[in-house]
Amino acid sequence: LGGSISRAIQQMSNATIIDEKVLNECLNEITRALLQSDVQFKLVRDMQTNIKKIVNLDDLAAGHNKRKIIQQAIFNELCKMLDPGKPSFTPKKGKTSVVMFVGLQGSGKTTTCTKYAYYHQKKGWKPALVCADTFRAGAFDQLKQNATKAKIPFYGSYMESDPVKIAVEGVERFKKENCDLIIVDTSGRHKQEAALFEEMRQVSEATKPDLVIFVMDSSIGQAAFDQAQAFKQSVAVGAVIVTKMDGHAKGGGALSAVAATKSPVIFIGTGEHMDEFEVFDVKPFVSRLLGMGDWSGFMDKIHEVVPMDQQPELLQKLSEGNFTLRIMYEQFQNILKMGPIGQVFSMLPGFSAELMPKGREKESQAKIKRYMTMMDSMTNEELDSSNPKLMNESRIMRIARGSGRQVREVMEMLEEYKRLAKIWGKMKGLKIPKKGEMSAL
Ligand code: GDP
Ligand code: MG
Repeated sequence: LGGSISRAIQQMSNATIIDEKVLNECLNEITRALLQSDVQFKLVRDMQTNIKKIVNLDDLAAGHNKRKIIQQAIFNELCKMLDPGKPSFTPKKGKTSVVMFVGLQGSGKTTTCTKYAYYHQKKGWKPALVCADTFRAGAFDQLKQNATKAKIPFYGSYMESDPVKIAVEGVERFKKENCDLIIVDTSGRHKQEAALFEEMRQVSEATKPDLVIFVMDSSIGQAAFDQAQAFKQSVAVGAVIVTKMDGHAKGGGALSAVAATKSPVIFIGTGEHMDEFEVFDVKPFVSRLLGMGDWSGFMDKIHEVVPMDQQPELLQKLSEGNFTLRIMYEQFQNILKMGPIGQVFSMLPGFSAELMPKGREKESQAKIKRYMTMMDSMTNEELDSSNPKLMNESRIMRIARGSGRQVREVMEMLEEYKRLAKIWGKMKGLKIPKKGEMSAL
C-alpha cells in the first residue's frame, strides 16, 4: 500500500498542471492501493468523494502548494476515518472496571488480555484475569500461564463448563479483592456462529462490563468489516484492538473495524510477547499507511526499547548515515534475535519488510544467515568501509571461496547491502525528535 500511494502522490507532484484530470488519476491510483490493502470498497468510495469536496481546484489552480494541499487532504481524510468521533470508555485507576474481550478464535484475545493487564499493572493498577472460555481445551491453562508469568491474579476452572457462571464468580471475587481492572476473556469459535454470539451476550449481561473490546487479527483482510459488524450487533463493542501488526499486515482492516463498530482502535499488538503492545496512535499509523515512514514512532520506539546506555551510540550511527557492512551484520544479528533493537529496525520502511516478506520468514532467515557466513570471510577493512569501490573482483572471489559460496551470491549480498545503505542514508543528519514529536508531513 505505502509504495503505490506514495508513487501516486509522486506522479502527481511531477505533473506541471494539476487539474481535475490529474486529481482523478491520483485518486484512482490511491483507490486501487486502498482496496489492495483490504479497505472496504464503500469506505474507499466515501474517502474519494470527500477528498473531491475538500480539495478546491481553484485553490490548486491559483498556485498554492498543490502537492501539500492534496497530501494533507488525503492524510486528514484517513485520520478522520480512524476517528469515530468519541473516545471509548477509559477505566480509571482505583475505581473498579470490568472489561470484556471478544473476537474470533485465534484473533489474539487471551494474549491481548494479558498484555492489557500487564500494561496497566506496570502503571500501578491492580488488574485481574478471568477465563470465561470453557469451549477450547487448554484455554484456562493458557491464561493461567500468561497470568502467572506476569504475576497477575486469575480465576478459572477446569471442571465448570458454564462460562457465565465462571465469569460472574471471577468478577465478584476480584471486586471483593479491590482489583481495579477486571478483565474477562471469552471464547471464540472458528467462524461467526449463533452459539458464540449467544454465549457472549449472556456473559455480557451477567457481568455488565464497562467496556467490551473487540480483538481483531490484522491479517483477516476484506472480512474485517463484516466480522466487526457482526460482533457489534451482538454486544456493545466500545473499542478495538488490532493484533499481529508485526506481521507486515496491511492496515486496511483497522479502518473497516472502526467504521463497522463506530469505536476507536485503542491498542495494537505487535508480537507474541507480553510487552509487544502499543497505544494506537492515528497519525503515525496513517503516515505509515501512506508510506511516509514513521519516524516519530521509530524514535519513540528507540527511546522505549533500546537500553539508555546504547541509545547515544545507535542514534549517532543513524545520524551519521554511514552504513557499513559491519552495521549490516549487527542489524542482521538483531533481526534474527528479534531483540528490542531488531524490533526497532523491523519498523524501518524497506528494512525488514523487504528483507523478510510475510510468509517467507524461514527462507529469509536462511538467506540472512547465508549473508552473515559470507561476511564472516570479510576483513575488518572491508566490514568498516563505506566505499563501494573497495569491493573489487578479487575481494569478491576471495570471500566466495572463503565461505564456500558462489560469486553470484556474494554479489547478491552486496546488492542487498547497497539497498539497505540507501534506506539508512535517508536518516543522515536526521534531527532527532523529542519523544512523541510528529514528523509525518
Ligand atoms: P484467542 O484464541 O483469541 O484467545 O487467541 P490467542 O491469544 O490464543 O492467540 C492466538 C495466536 O496468536 C497465539 O499463537 C498468539 O501467540 C498469537 N498472537 C496474538 N497476538 C499476537 C501479535 O500481536 N503478534 C503475533 N505475532 N502473534 C500474536
Ligand atoms: Mg483464547
